[in-house]
Amino acid sequence: MEYAKRCKNLEEIFDFWSHIKKIREKLPCQIDGIVVSVNSNDLFVRLGFVGKAPRGAIAFKFPAEQATSMVEGIKVQVGRTGVLTPVANIRPVNIGGTIVSHATLHNEDEIRKKDIRIGDTVIVQRAGDVIPEVVEVLKRLRPKKTKEFNMPRKCPVCESDVVREKGEVGHYCQNKKCFAVEKEKIIHFVSKKAFNVDGLGEKIVGQLIDGGLISGAVDIFLLTKDDLEPLERFAEKSASNLIEAVNNSKIISLPRFLFSLGIRHIGEQTVYDIAQIFQKNNVIKKPSDLLKAADGMAIDDWLFIRDIGPISAKSIASWFADENNRNFLNRLTESGIIIESPKASAVKIKKLLGKTFVLTGELSSFTREEAQDFIRSLGGNVSSSVSEKTDYVVTGENPGIKYEKARKIGVKIIDEKEFRKLVKFKAQK
Ligand SMILES: [Zn+2]
Repeated sequence: MEYAKRCKNLEEIFDFWSHIKKIREKLPCQIDGIVVSVNSNDLFVRLGFVGKAPRGAIAFKFPAEQATSMVEGIKVQVGRTGVLTPVANIRPVNIGGTIVSHATLHNEDEIRKKDIRIGDTVIVQRAGDVIPEVVEVLKRLRPKKTKEFNMPRKCPVCESDVVREKGEVGHYCQNKKCFAVEKEKIIHFVSKKAFNVDGLGEKIVGQLIDGGLISGAVDIFLLTKDDLEPLERFAEKSASNLIEAVNNSKIISLPRFLFSLGIRHIGEQTVYDIAQIFQKNNVIKKPSDLLKAADGMAIDDWLFIRDIGPISAKSIASWFADENNRNFLNRLTESGIIIESPKASAVKIKKLLGKTFVLTGELSSFTREEAQDFIRSLGGNVSSSVSEKTDYVVTGENPGIKYEKARKIGVKIIDEKEFRKLVKFKAQK
């Protein structure tokens, strides 16, 4: 294999590390180092673990790429949940072959802790993460008369009040219709794990909003070819392609639909559990059917769902109580959204209900995401780490450390063929 090597001594490991470090920019994904592992499974198991870390393998990371620059300004961006994120505009600087002119400051606590001010000379880092960040301020170089940064009290987009809620690090815009909030919501709504509308990315969403064609997610389903054609970048063909993609997305599974709503604290795993509870007690064929399903849930009922704690229970309950959201669901129903019935796979659902899977290695007939979708759609749960609670570890080509851990603690290990049988998946062709 191109990106793995059997090394005989430390020197060879260092050479391989340098080689990968040199070619890392050309790899299809971002990496922050290599893993050095003993190549005997028996030895690996015998070496055991220190806490969670196996003694038989170690991460050998590349140094984070850093550069010095100056903070020219701090602006505040508004995200999908209405959270305000401060971002430093820095003097453009080359870090590892990329020109960086922005660095995230995460939140107010982070800025206080690092004491970052406009005019400061700072060390900026680009690590495995794509978003560069400010690591440290070089205080000796600080100009006179700098001021501490404060989060704005009003939303930079819509000027509504900004509130930092108890127990949260983030500040939130209180206007539920805030333009930026709405835009981020739409982008999330059509994204891959939600409505998955082909060809409707961030840029096009921005263009449609700027063109006054949409102001909320429902408007997407009301677009016509004639609306789109006059827009820049939209020839007749691409306009009809987008309309077709929108129409194709109108039939959606309940978990995906729940995820598309972007309810704060409700993640992509939890939506499957909520969907099961909803569908067990209700017939859900259209978005507005969720209202009745949710109204039948007391706070305690939410808490009963796996991975839902008091904060997420409150979040989801108040989402469904909000008049704007209730209208939103009704309008989605009017625009023809259909929620798929899970009946066809009801028998299988019981089969994997409550089972926890861990995936390791590459599968040949699924992408990682597809395999996860499969498991979740059959009632199973996907976890990223192996523990006593794991029911199955599915191994593909080149399985990683999870495989060894599973062997060690005696979790059932199945290969791809067995997995396909389990989920009754027939490979195409
Ligand atoms: Zn706002």
